[in-house]
Amino acid sequence: MNTAARLPSVDRVLSTPLARALSAEYGASSTTAAVRTALDALRPAALAGEAAAAQLAPEALAAQAQQHLAARFAPRLKAVFNLTGTVLHTNLGRALLPDVAVQAVVQALTTPANLEFDLATGGRGDRDDLITDLLRDLTGAEAATVVNNNAAAVLLTLNALAPRKEVIVSRGELVEIGGAFRIPDIMGRAGAKLVEVGTTNRTHAKDYAEAITARTALLMKVHCSNYAVTGFTKSVPEAEVAQIAHAHGLPLVTDLGSGTLVDLSQWGLPHEPTVRDVVAAGADVVTFSGDKLLGGPQAGLIVGRKDLIAKIKKNPLKRALRVGKLTLAALEPVLRLYLAPEHLPARLTTLRLFTRPQADIRALAEPLLAPLQAAVGAAYAVRTAPLFSQIGSGALPVDTLPSYGLAIAPTTPKRTGRALAALEAALRSLPRPVIGHIASDALWLDLRCLEAPDLPAFTAQLPALADALRQK
Ligand SMILES: *Cc1c(COP(=O)(O)O)cnc(C)c1O
Repeated sequence: MNTAARLPSVDRVLSTPLARALSAEYGASSTTAAVRTALDALRPAALAGEAAAAQLAPEALAAQAQQHLAARFAPRLKAVFNLTGTVLHTNLGRALLPDVAVQAVVQALTTPANLEFDLATGGRGDRDDLITDLLRDLTGAEAATVVNNNAAAVLLTLNALAPRKEVIVSRGELVEIGGAFRIPDIMGRAGAKLVEVGTTNRTHAKDYAEAITARTALLMKVHCSNYAVTGFTKSVPEAEVAQIAHAHGLPLVTDLGSGTLVDLSQWGLPHEPTVRDVVAAGADVVTFSGDKLLGGPQAGLIVGRKDLIAKIKKNPLKRALRVGKLTLAALEPVLRLYLAPEHLPARLTTLRLFTRPQADIRALAEPLLAPLQAAVGAAYAVRTAPLFSQIGSGALPVDTLPSYGLAIAPTTPKRTGRALAALEAALRSLPRPVIGHIASDALWLDLRCLEAPDLPAFTAQLPALADALRQK
């Protein structure tokens, strides 16, 4: 026989104590497949007579199979430390939910609930009813509904209210939100025809008025979420556009993006128009996200005039874009927190993070300096430094929150970029990956989103960071 015969059989490997233990944990079929994978990987070397005896041992092949299995069964969605300085980080899952919402989700996951069941009559209910009263109460709107996200809310609203008709939007508001949401594209998919008015920096009331024709379905305002138009600018306030629309018997739809329900300036945060402000200014339909400033689950909220919301709810796309019970379970308690706005900074996770005092963050940063320096070694110098966090997700792009963090800079002037990339990769490779950001020849860890209870888990990883850096 040729040298490949020296490879043990699948059965021989499966009969090792390790493989038996793997089979008990991962199941026989996955374990057999992993053993085959390990044998296949070694076969070319074995055929060429290049495999060492130790590699060909059944125990060694079982150990290889264990690695394949561990990788295959490892969760892909992992907890990370968001030290980017962006609180609502879209790529890291945006808003963190308060415990009341988490408990409600667990209950909805494990217990039957009256999702679409009217407990008063025993008849069929409407899942929107779970949050309609709260949204009316919190926004002053007559009616409300909810879909999968704000992009879906805009798509559905336009498809329901402006099919094959014209929608007038200012050129200064034709926004692209990260992740391929562009107002002109959504407009096209919704079957509405975009009519652009004004210029990039200036749009006047008469621009809207002059664009209205018999084919106009509605006027639209879009909140400039992720950019600011500054300098020689003019945009027409909601109330004035609403007046123009109403004078022609047309509705005004506002895509508010982040859509806060309370005036954030009461906590020293920058002012954003609230949904209530926009409704009061005359917007007939307002759409906004559930997981941006609101601090809830991913959702698209639509509030407004009763007849228009009814039309939106009747549209077949509503059924396609509806939310699941987990979303509703999380959204309802988050909205209820807004009934006691005084307690929001303590009870709503996102607001707690936004309003965290710089001194608190600094108090956390100082004791981390020495252990972090020890972990990264002499190749890097760690220092604490004041910095600014961002709210994120397009909310309040210009304004930033005074924060504190750690800056890690390579000590040798050569190959700085490479040293920073190695550090960034080492931090990402930790069991709970640490995500910072690189700027001005240093890697920055903004500690705003690292709270005291997270600290033990963070420091426990520092030896692993030292190991990871040694392997680079
Ligand atoms: C974020 C945003 C959207 C998209 O909302 P999602 O909830 O992410 O789908 C749409 N319009 C504006 C103005 C936004 O800021």
